[in-house]
Parts: sequence; C-alpha cells; structure tokens
Amino acid sequence: MLLSMADPLIKLTRHEKIMITRVRIEHTKLIHSHLMRKELKPRCETCLNELSVKHIFLECPNYQNARTKSNLNTRSLKEALNYGDEKRIFDFIKIADLASNI
Ligand SMILES: [Zn+2]
Repeated sequence: MLLSMADPLIKLTRHEKIMITRVRIEHTKLIHSHLMRKELKPRCETCLNELSVKHIFLECPNYQNARTKSNLNTRSLKEALNYGDEKRIFDFIKIADLASNI
C-alpha cells in the first residue's frame, strides 16, 4: 500500500502544481482579479450567480459537459478536488478551457 501514499503532485509540472493549489485554496485569477482592480465581485456570465470555484466545478450548467467528459467527482467540492484526482481536475480545466483563468 506504499504506492497509494506517494504524493500525487510529484508527477506534475511546476505550473500544474500552481494551478491545482490555486483551485484547492479557491484563489484563482478568474474569481480574484476584481480585488486588484477594485471592482465588485464577479458573477457568472451564464447564470449570474456569484463566481466561485464551487460554482464552476459543481454548479454551473455551462460546464456540465466538461464535468461529464472529465469524469469529475461532483458529490462535493472536496471530493472533486481530492488528492489523487489531479488528472480529472486537469481534464476538466482543459475541456472547460479555463487554464488561462486559474
Ligand atoms: Zn454559472
């Protein structure tokens, strides 16, 4: 069982590690860039809900297709971003075309 205890982040590039960390601490460019610009909190362009990592990963109908294709675990945000699920997280980010916003 030693294998399952290996750090799954070890196989990722530096940039990928940064993206995963940003999503996990819920601090992404998409959601937090307004702080730099002193603007109001951003809202989702599709459904006008307040933008959050949870909204993008679990709730927004705009990304349902990406969720299904990447086989993302959508029971909770914690499970969606679980350690060991990095491939699904990246597949989701790629299919949803969010890489430049993370
Ligand atoms: Zn939305």
